[in-house]
Amino acid sequence: MSKEQLECSFCGRNKADTNLLIAGLDAHICDRCIEQAHGIVLEDTSVDQPGVSDAELELKKPKAIKTFLDEYIIGQDFTKKVMSVAVYNHYKRLLQKNTDDDVEIQKSNIMMVGQTGTGKTLIAKTIARMLNVPLAIVDATVLTEAGYVGEDVESILTRLLQAADYNLEKAQTGIVFIDEIDKIARKSDNPSITRDVSGEGVQQGLLKLLEGTVVNVPPKGGRKHPDQKFIEVNTENILFIAGGAFDGIEKVIQKRMNMQAVGFSASMSNDGVAEKDNLLQYIIPKDIKDFGMIPEIIGRLPVLTHMDPLDARTLRAILTEPKNAIIKQYKKLFEMDDIEFTITDDALSFIVERAVEYKLGARGLRSLCEAILTDAMFDMPGSNENKLEVSKDYAESKLNKKAIQKLKAVS
Ligand code: ADP
Repeated sequence: MSKEQLECSFCGRNKADTNLLIAGLDAHICDRCIEQAHGIVLEDTSVDQPGVSDAELELKKPKAIKTFLDEYIIGQDFTKKVMSVAVYNHYKRLLQKNTDDDVEIQKSNIMMVGQTGTGKTLIAKTIARMLNVPLAIVDATVLTEAGYVGEDVESILTRLLQAADYNLEKAQTGIVFIDEIDKIARKSDNPSITRDVSGEGVQQGLLKLLEGTVVNVPPKGGRKHPDQKFIEVNTENILFIAGGAFDGIEKVIQKRMNMQAVGFSASMSNDGVAEKDNLLQYIIPKDIKDFGMIPEIIGRLPVLTHMDPLDARTLRAILTEPKNAIIKQYKKLFEMDDIEFTITDDALSFIVERAVEYKLGARGLRSLCEAILTDAMFDMPGSNENKLEVSKDYAESKLNKKAIQKLKAVS
């Protein structure tokens, strides 16, 4: 190994990224890992119960959690409420571990169902930030059964360890967000005779993690191989949040509801389009099973919640209201160049209309703003101009057909 390629055998940092890299017989360790290892030694020798202390985890009440979420996430009241309670109960469970009691509180892992771009990841991120716990966001589509091309389910924990900067104790009380969980649904209703490498097999693999087990995790990720050192991670106190769009599950819900109550669909259409557009609000665990998730997985994600589709009013609020709303961010960016940036109501409506028209969703809002403001952000800094008012006409002039085609292509 050449000198430039030297790296810490524990965390994989290059020599250049460390303050100190100490060489052993055939391994190296960096200053950060030494510190962490030292912490672990101290802990192991001073306390026999490595639980989470009250002081370390500031437990907010559900209402306070919801208020925090309200600052960043528009709408989705049902999910915010359900999540606040689930998160509160999860961390209460952690704290009660230190008490002698026969009543064992079960894990409240969460399943969030909703179209892409409705804020599932944002909610998970916001909760992790509020609790100050590490968060790993993983995509279920890359997971395969051990031994096949793709990533083993253990790789999820490698990510969490990395997010926790290899602090094992922190990782063990962190949050894992598994996105696109619906993509590992069984492909057909028929438990297949042929191997279903990326579907049911992965669900089986996930089961253990969700419930709580000790897993040998390769700290640097990748395949397990004999001479790699492992870190033992206990998943018992890790909160798992799974999210997925479950495209087509509305049909499953509708079918079930029609069967349950004859004439339901008729009464539903009387209720207007909104009801029909948001069938997800009636979702129950059985629908997820009928979609192709195995019952055991559903049982281990006991808190089920749905995301509402984003209508024009919500999209508009997303532009301006959250604590770090897109428009507020641009204001700040311009301010740093002493440029006063304002945008008219008409222009905001115009942006929202385009996002709805081209089905760009909340993610599209940012790309639309970027397309409208790039010229100004390029030209204005360093010029004599110190005021930018974006009107509808201005927005329209910047957002020509070509720009929209581009946005549609990337969304
Ligand atoms: P999902 O995980 O459901 O696909 P994301 O959470 O990644 O969606 O949302 C994409 C982006 O859209 C977020 O980063 C955020 O800027 C914006 N967004 C989506 N939904 C909301 C919401 N309800 N409130 C505020 N911002 C939102």
